[in-house]
Amino acid sequence: SGRVLIVGAGLAALRGAEALREAGFSGPLTIVGDEPHFPYDRPPLSKHVLTGAIPAEATTLPGIGALAAEWQLGSAAQRLDRQARTVSLADGRILPYDRLLIATGTRARPWANPHEGRLAGVFTLRGRDDAAALRRALAAGPKHVLVIGAGFIGCEVASLCRQLDLPVTLVEPGPTPLGRVLGSTVGAFIGAIHEGHGVALRCGREVEWLEGRDGRLVRAHLVDGSSLAADIAVIALGAVRNTEWLDGAGLSADPGGVDCDARGHVLDTDGRPDPRIAAAGDVARFPHPLYDGRRVALEHWSHAVAQGVHAGRLLAGAEPGAPYGALPTFWSTQGDLVVKSVGLTEGADAVAITQGDAAAGRFVATYGRAGRCIAAVSVDSARWLPAHAELVETRAPFPPEGAATDRPKGVTVF
Ligand code: FAD
Repeated sequence: SGRVLIVGAGLAALRGAEALREAGFSGPLTIVGDEPHFPYDRPPLSKHVLTGAIPAEATTLPGIGALAAEWQLGSAAQRLDRQARTVSLADGRILPYDRLLIATGTRARPWANPHEGRLAGVFTLRGRDDAAALRRALAAGPKHVLVIGAGFIGCEVASLCRQLDLPVTLVEPGPTPLGRVLGSTVGAFIGAIHEGHGVALRCGREVEWLEGRDGRLVRAHLVDGSSLAADIAVIALGAVRNTEWLDGAGLSADPGGVDCDARGHVLDTDGRPDPRIAAAGDVARFPHPLYDGRRVALEHWSHAVAQGVHAGRLLAGAEPGAPYGALPTFWSTQGDLVVKSVGLTEGADAVAITQGDAAAGRFVATYGRAGRCIAAVSVDSARWLPAHAELVETRAPFPPEGAATDRPKGVTVF
């Protein structure tokens, strides 16, 4: 009974809506999204869409028609009033709710180009329209692509440029690619693989500003005084959570996420749960039971699915108090390289290569914290990951011994 409103029309929203209906909710359901598109899948945007293998429109997710939902697309939620139980949209409409799911995800972290401001040829990559625009630019045969930031999206775009036979420079302020998430030991191995494929990797460097001519990018200037010609730049500096519309609603929320309790109800500024409101997906920050209740916000496809389902069931009254705590998993395809992970590496104090050969580019690394396994990352050896998932789920002693792994070699202390 009552009226359910879902704000954010992405993956977590869709899975939440499906779970609501499956749990027996047959009342009015409204889904609000600021993009003019029905929910679509983002992982292919930095992979098959950029190579041209599939058009951006082909990423639309199935199952939308079966929901019997009212879709309000193309207008952002701007304000939540918990007393009146309404959400106001940018176009002036005011939508009531009895129960609300917050699933507004993240956006690409912006970077203000000093001196020149906005230039044609400079892109970020978060949405379907971004991917379509970047694909058009790459297909036009640029002379040189610059990728700023060697996180997952930056590494995917750089390796894909090499697949398209385009010259590409990847500039990263940290000592290795993917260092923030995977640490520098594993990051260095992955960096070497990309260099082997012809990516010009410049770690420990920072882009200071981008120079334009007639409003188009022509050159990038680095902080060390060097410069390079570039006609496309992709800014891949991570993501910011879409929580501004919650300002003034009395919830515990900031650019790092909206806080939830273990069940998934959002918390007010005094730390009390609001039983009418849940959050799910990239925007939610919640205490993870596998990590001693430390509050985490994830940016993983499988998490948006699992937490979306959990929140849908919670709002339907079908989740009697169960805490949400799915094992985090992630994958990234970088050219023909496949990186997969289980668990969270954050807070690791040591890492060991526990399977395969890192120098040969096929291995599993296991991450430890205070003598326990907390995460594992496979590089082109995903078949070993299930055994490692068990080590993480059972918090097995680190470094791990026994059947699941080779003898740990080269334990590196962070
Ligand atoms: P989103 O998918 O971001 O959906 C949120 C929606 O809410 C968006 O449409 C947003 O515009 C909308 N919104 C925001 N603010 C408002 C507002 N105020 N009012 C109304 N609507 C609003 N994960 C993996 O595990 N593996 C991968 O290989 C992988 N590749 C990726 C590649 C790319 C290019 C990107 C961008 C992400 C990738 N991810 C990957 C991450 C994964 O796609 C996300 O974790 C997932 O999309 C999160 O789903 P979500 O529903 O929480 O958020």
